[in-house]
Amino acid sequence: MAKLYFRYGAMNSGKSTALLQAAFNYEERGQHVLLAKPEIDTKGADQISSRLGVERQVDFLIAPDADLRALVVEHAARYDGRVACLLIDEAQFLTPAQVDDLLRIVVDDGIPALAYGIRTDFQTRAFPGSARLLELAHSLEELKTICRCGRKALFNARLVGGRFVFDGDQVAIDELSHEKVTYESMCAECYLRESGGRLS
Ligand SMILES: [Zn+2]
Repeated sequence: MAKLYFRYGAMNSGKSTALLQAAFNYEERGQHVLLAKPEIDTKGADQISSRLGVERQVDFLIAPDADLRALVVEHAARYDGRVACLLIDEAQFLTPAQVDDLLRIVVDDGIPALAYGIRTDFQTRAFPGSARLLELAHSLEELKTICRCGRKALFNARLVGGRFVFDGDQVAIDELSHEKVTYESMCAECYLRESGGRLS
């Protein structure tokens, strides 16, 4: 039976690398996969790029109002519908309705789906897509990364121009800001120290 997998972690936990590795494993066995990601992530445009330097173009981008199931049917036609797995990067940016569709694709159409994404935003709140994936996925797997102090990182602190900020929009698009927006994966202890005890 096909399953919906949500593999989540803080930023820099190797999600894109794991996704590209999973795609390679299928293709090595002569199977076809579809790679997709939500359109809202403008940084890499239509590429999935791992920090190890591997890059690959997605088969399709998912607009916020897109019918995910129709997109999968359309692109699976290239392989006569024989798709072994649907792989989605930056899955936190899916809408909850698209995650609902993802479960239907898995259960009704029999296509396994691997969704990779960040669990929470810079204010420790779940992204809408991640919240729905945590609710619906058959299988949850945490991809781990390390805080500066050596503990497991849980949260993603935002820096603007090198300084921590705890107010702002859930999605900060680099190109729109005059100062560079970066993130640091942090454990709860370090996050609370930097935020002065704030959690949102
Ligand atoms: Zn720490």
